[in-house]
Amino acid sequence: MHVLVLGAGQLARMMSLAGAPLNIEISAYDVGSENIVHPLTQTVLGQGLENAIENADVITAEFEHIPHDILDICQQSGKFLPSTEAIKAGGDRRIEKALLDNAAVRNAKYYVIKTREDFSTAIERVGIPMVLKSALGGYDGKGQWRLKDLNQADAIWAEMAECIAATETQAIVAEEFVPFNREVSLVGARGKDGSVAVYPLAENVHTNGVLTLSTAIADNELQQQAKTMFTAVANSLDYVGVLALEFFDLNGELLVNEIAPRVHNSGHWTQQGAETCQFENHLRAVCGLPLGSTKLIRSTSMINILGEDTLPPEVLTMAGCHVHWYGKEKRAGRKMGHINVCGDYNGELQRKLCALADVLSKEAFPAVHQFAENFSE
Ligand code: AMP
Repeated sequence: MHVLVLGAGQLARMMSLAGAPLNIEISAYDVGSENIVHPLTQTVLGQGLENAIENADVITAEFEHIPHDILDICQQSGKFLPSTEAIKAGGDRRIEKALLDNAAVRNAKYYVIKTREDFSTAIERVGIPMVLKSALGGYDGKGQWRLKDLNQADAIWAEMAECIAATETQAIVAEEFVPFNREVSLVGARGKDGSVAVYPLAENVHTNGVLTLSTAIADNELQQQAKTMFTAVANSLDYVGVLALEFFDLNGELLVNEIAPRVHNSGHWTQQGAETCQFENHLRAVCGLPLGSTKLIRSTSMINILGEDTLPPEVLTMAGCHVHWYGKEKRAGRKMGHINVCGDYNGELQRKLCALADVLSKEAFPAVHQFAENFSE
């Protein structure tokens, strides 16, 4: 099987690593350079999409901000999975919100803003405090504003108006502020036959809007809620592949924050912590193979490595610690790799996270240090 992935970043790289044992070969389309590249070496294999589409058995995507003309060409080939509709929903908060409403899945109250008048209506209907998010192009907390007091409205509007004017189809989605207790996500797969297999929920810590620590958790009641919502969204899209739902946990009630129509950063822990990792399950789904077991095999956390290209040797020495580099050039804040850390049971995992806090710097790994501080209290 030959799978063409739209996007040539770390997610395509990890799909390539997971696909090899199943004889699934991956090539990646770099949307920026328009080259077809090898996802591990970045060696240029060809140029332009046409030939690559012809040579592929299946086409899929590793990110959702893909120009719609490219998506349409892929869709026309009849080989693209999950679907352009799903990718477009992941890349446009208006479509995403409408999708959640149509699937009757709980999400924060919202209003779409194009004009100053709309902003006033949003303030009336959604209320203050309010989170404002660009409909297109926002990720990892970028393109967002917080309105905490009415007297900030004019200053925020000046920035939002500039954002709206920059792209013809841009808008702002005003969302009620959710005073959540924690953020969790559910990663799961839906096969061509409609079968659904979800992983255990992950509890996620974000630092400045970017995921820093993700830990698989066992909570039967929340897991059931999350699975019901996952199935509703996946079925409404006739989805095929891995899909991630990010939630706010508000006193035991889940609200969907956003969906990602792809393998997800909060599912990287599955490489060491689950029977079948999310990358293999995505490939199994889009290639029409049976889904693999999503069972948790050991307590696992994932730590993102942001803006660093070396680690202290103790990380590799520690049993149960697995380092995954993405082969990228170092840049401040960039996702350079991740560490999966495992224990035979929760207490052992917690002790290992504390031991990692002793060797990792507080500046680069604030969430690990925060965990260790909370644990010792
Ligand atoms: P997003 O890009 O939508 O994932 O937002 C980035 C982060 O902002 C989330 O992970 C939350 O921590 C926070 N956030 C987003 N939307 C809301 C909301 N409606 N209420 C409270 N916090 C939010």
